[in-house]
Amino acid sequence: MTNEFSCLPGMTPHASWVTTRVIEQQQLAPDTYRLRLHCPKAARVITPGQFFMVRPQGGTDPLLGRPFALYDTVDGEEGPEAIDFVYHVIGKMTGLMSHWTQGEAVEFWGPLGNGFPVAHCRHLMYIGGGIGYTPVLAIAREALGHRRYGLPSRSSERTVDRVTLCYGVRSADHLADLTDLNAVDGLAIRQATDDGSAGHHGLVTDLLTESLQSDGAPDTVFCCGPLPMMHAVGRICEAAGVDCWLSLESPMACGFGACFSCVTRIRTDDPDGWDYRRTCVEGPVFPATQLVLD
Ligand SMILES: Cc1cc2nc3c(=O)[nH]c(=O)nc-3n(C[C@H](O)[C@H](O)[C@H](O)COP(=O)(O)OP(=O)(O)OC[C@H]3O[C@@H](n4cnc5c(N)ncnc54)[C@H](O)[C@@H]3O)c2cc1C
Repeated sequence: MTNEFSCLPGMTPHASWVTTRVIEQQQLAPDTYRLRLHCPKAARVITPGQFFMVRPQGGTDPLLGRPFALYDTVDGEEGPEAIDFVYHVIGKMTGLMSHWTQGEAVEFWGPLGNGFPVAHCRHLMYIGGGIGYTPVLAIAREALGHRRYGLPSRSSERTVDRVTLCYGVRSADHLADLTDLNAVDGLAIRQATDDGSAGHHGLVTDLLTESLQSDGAPDTVFCCGPLPMMHAVGRICEAAGVDCWLSLESPMACGFGACFSCVTRIRTDDPDGWDYRRTCVEGPVFPATQLVLD
């Protein structure tokens, strides 16, 4: 099913560029879908927070691939053989993808980027804004010792006592189907909506601030979502002295470090100094303390 034809130097060591096929597509919420691709080689090596680029096979419209983060890997008879990702329809490619059905031919390159580190702590909190919640499934399953990722697997036992997802969206009708997450033993979920139609009425960062003032404060925070939200999370954690990692969703064209379209600003040793780093190769996950936060 998979036809591998090249691998580029800027990609991670185990990355490959393949033509593969859609196994299934399921709608999780209005404009939100989970897509399953057959790619055993990538499924065996990918780790939580890494991403890959996807585009239709052949043709030039759209010309550029689009980046998507790992949701989870799926086992076949001989171990991981497929990759799931969850996407929100916002434009040209994701609109096209929402019509893909079983057997659709797809170009895939990855795994790309660094991904989240393995958390070793008591309480890992993941702050997800909108579609930025998706990496938490694999993160939680790995940290709680339910599933292994990477080759060799980078963690084989439970490394945290508990994981909390703080999931923020505009309103209840933007909440994704959380069935997969509710099935993870040891993962607690708190919700926030801007309009109060589900969970906490207000910003998802309120849940972080509240938790930091409680006995069960997180000692590590992972986060993905809109940039202003991530910068706010970074600032709150820096003030509280809590380890914090942000996964940037900078738009990018190649995914393997050649085009420099995804650069972000990193602090340097000089006071007020900064330099650029590529989100696709040096990220997408950065310690919040390294980033220039607005
Ligand atoms: C490392 C990484 C991981 C990602 N993982 C996921 C994921 O798991 N699920 C998911 O749904 N999305 C994810 N994204 C975002 C996803 O790549 C974009 O939503 C997608 O490229 C949009 O393609 P499109 O052709 O549908 O939209 P386009 O037609 O290309 O764009 C439509 C509009 O959206 C804006 N836009 C496009 N991309 C972005 C972006 N990254 N940030 C802000 N505005 C943007 C454009 O400027 C334009 O206004 C990720 C991005 C990165 C960098």
